[in-house]
Amino acid sequence: MNRKAHDRILVLTGAGISAESGIRTFRDSDGLWEDHAIEDVATPEGFTKDPALVWSFYRERYNQAKAALPNAGHLALADLEARISSRFNLITQNVDGLHSIAGNKKVFEMHGSLYRAICTVCKTSVSMQSIKPDIALPLCPKCNSLLRPDVVWFHEVPYFISKIETLLKCCDLFLIVGTSGTVYPAAGFVMTAKYFGARTVAINMEAPKNLSVFDEFYQGNAATILPNLLSEIN
Ligand code: NAD
Ligand code: ZN
Repeated sequence: MNRKAHDRILVLTGAGISAESGIRTFRDSDGLWEDHAIEDVATPEGFTKDPALVWSFYRERYNQAKAALPNAGHLALADLEARISSRFNLITQNVDGLHSIAGNKKVFEMHGSLYRAICTVCKTSVSMQSIKPDIALPLCPKCNSLLRPDVVWFHEVPYFISKIETLLKCCDLFLIVGTSGTVYPAAGFVMTAKYFGARTVAINMEAPKNLSVFDEFYQGNAATILPNLLSEIN
């Protein structure tokens, strides 16, 4: 997978890259996310129905993410960015913050972050660290309305969509890691990248749903495969 010096590399990661850090994916657990139905904890309707349940779920995810460490897969991506800097960009569907902790700088967290909450009315951003853990329904410090986790749920529009479109159109290599290819719009990114001429590569434990669109597929654990594969790139 040796690339020419001018190659721009765009990486898209999903929950699978954090599996070795002890954070569960949801496809692997029968469509449930940490034993909860997706509709209950990852949709705006679920939040309207039971905001306290949703808040307690994301507090647990936040505490779990804070206690987790980046694995060899995250570190290999941070190392690659350090080597090729301006030619590298990383889009992640993950909300666990592990790419930044590993050292990546250009990270586009398209599904938001467990490290932030946002006001449901005035959109003020609040760090999770500043929210008292014993309050079931935290309120906005500015307007006193209900805060929500700053995580993009199903039926909502992800962050950075127009920036991502630009990156997809001008990358030479598009690499996806640890994502099932079932959650849209991210699952469709490879089509755009390929249409605009990128070489497309997938690393995943199982064949992604959209396997036929990839030029190369490496099946297995991202934490084992990434360090070897990326060390060839300069
Ligand atoms: P997904 O759960 O749908 O798919 C994960 C994929 O990773 C699976 O295809 C699985 O085979 C693969 N995988 C598992 N372990 C792996 C490993 N060690 N190496 C390589 N591949 C491995 O995840 P998704 O496609 O990212 O979509 C899930 C959505 O749920 C995300 O958009 C995200 O917002 C949310 N989510 C986030 C986290 C997190 O932040 N870590 C965890 C669970 C869910
Ligand atoms: Zn507010």
